[in-house]
Amino acid sequence: MAEQPPAYRPTTSGTRVYLDVPYSEKEAAKALGARWDQAAKRWYDPRPPTTGLDPWAARPPVPDLLPGEDRAFGAGLFVDMVPRWCWFTNVRSCVTPQDWERLRHMITRRAGQRCEACWAGEDRTVQRWLEAHERWAYDDRTGVQALRRLICLCSDCHLSTHLGLANVTGRADQALAHLRAVTGMTDSEVSRHVQAAGELWTRRSARVWTLDLTMLTDAGVTLARPETAADRAAAAERELRDLRGTTARVIPAPRTPPEQPQHRPTSRTEPPNRAGPDLAALLADSGWLNGPDDLARNAPGIGVSYEAARRLHTEGVGADHSWRVGADGEITVAAVLSTLTTPSRLNRLRRRSPAWKVLHSVPVGTGRGDIDHVLIGPPGVVTINTKHHRAGRLALDGDELIVNGRATDYIPTARREALRAAALLGSALDATGHPELAARLTMRPVLAIVGGRVLITSWAPGVSVVMTRQLTHTLTSMPPALDPHEVDAVYGVARHRAVWARSLP
Ligand SMILES: [Zn+2]
Repeated sequence: MAEQPPAYRPTTSGTRVYLDVPYSEKEAAKALGARWDQAAKRWYDPRPPTTGLDPWAARPPVPDLLPGEDRAFGAGLFVDMVPRWCWFTNVRSCVTPQDWERLRHMITRRAGQRCEACWAGEDRTVQRWLEAHERWAYDDRTGVQALRRLICLCSDCHLSTHLGLANVTGRADQALAHLRAVTGMTDSEVSRHVQAAGELWTRRSARVWTLDLTMLTDAGVTLARPETAADRAAAAERELRDLRGTTARVIPAPRTPPEQPQHRPTSRTEPPNRAGPDLAALLADSGWLNGPDDLARNAPGIGVSYEAARRLHTEGVGADHSWRVGADGEITVAAVLSTLTTPSRLNRLRRRSPAWKVLHSVPVGTGRGDIDHVLIGPPGVVTINTKHHRAGRLALDGDELIVNGRATDYIPTARREALRAAALLGSALDATGHPELAARLTMRPVLAIVGGRVLITSWAPGVSVVMTRQLTHTLTSMPPALDPHEVDAVYGVARHRAVWARSLP
């Protein structure tokens, strides 16, 4: 680094003397006495000045808006593959680790410690971190690739953005599933999007770009290695070879998306649902509200409680046990959900209704099957399947959920359930004058685990597996898609029993 190390003075906020410790150097700093401030998410010197910690002395913070930065540039989540000769030679590799840490710290702080694409926070239990990602503007005429914005992305969104890299490292399915979950794109929309991104990447990769990093240099960040374009190309090839262990083709081929991790109602070009009685007329007469057809009256676990009673009656004492345990689980989850669906005192005073609505034990079809909880809120509709395992040991590896050593079909079932719910609710919305809502409806299956512990090896595409203590966090972290009026409209339709009782074509 060309600059002199800054004088080591206790400068920073309050009484804490913060340090800029890059992740790769944290063990060294810790050994020398540095401590971690969980709230500030920074290392600090507990007894300043501690000998040996000076190399990490915090430099003045970088400004919250970098010179020339456009924070509206490149909003949301999309596949944005950097041209071939720039791979891995990103901003991080151009600045010192300490400057990178300064930048990363500013970016995560100004984003409120949330991903700016999906609003998820850091979660070490699921290996989700917040990372800084560069948004570039490409000028085809001048051949300049200019840094326009630094955006805070969670590792999942970051992976989706770098789909080419995800493909090379065998994680394309995971990246596509996340892209679908966050954007609500259908499978065919995702295919088109990936296709277009691939074509753009191919076109941009056909030339060598000149990097414009004035956004950083004007903010006082020193470029450690202003590499030439040729150096960058060689470095990209080298790192890619290391990653793959082969020199095979680099082009990230658009892949066929995996099956439906994101659920939408069936296409409206399909023949209309045999709705039995005309749903629109049925719902228009408000006489059903608070009556036996109003599912809002359903108590949590009521479906399984009936089943427990039936088993006890037909099969004898003991046959009802697992059903009772199941009912307990649903009641536990309902209690957690009530923190979202019960208006706070303040909102009661303001006559504002809670942002979320819930229906319990929603009977689907004509058999005894029901969905434990249907939650309707800002992100759309969430179907929750509750699994109660007292002190159970669960292991999740993709679609396989193993409970106490036994493989279960919980994940495919949860997905099927959401798909069916999406089709039923989607066609009902369509039939009752909300075609626009029906088209935008996203259904997110959640498997809520009560008791027990889950060891996660890899995620189940499109299905969230969540312990009850993380449930509200998971739900409130989902990106918003519906406004309060739309939530009310969906709830108004979903609460009628007839909506769920129909058979699908
Ligand atoms: Zn994210």
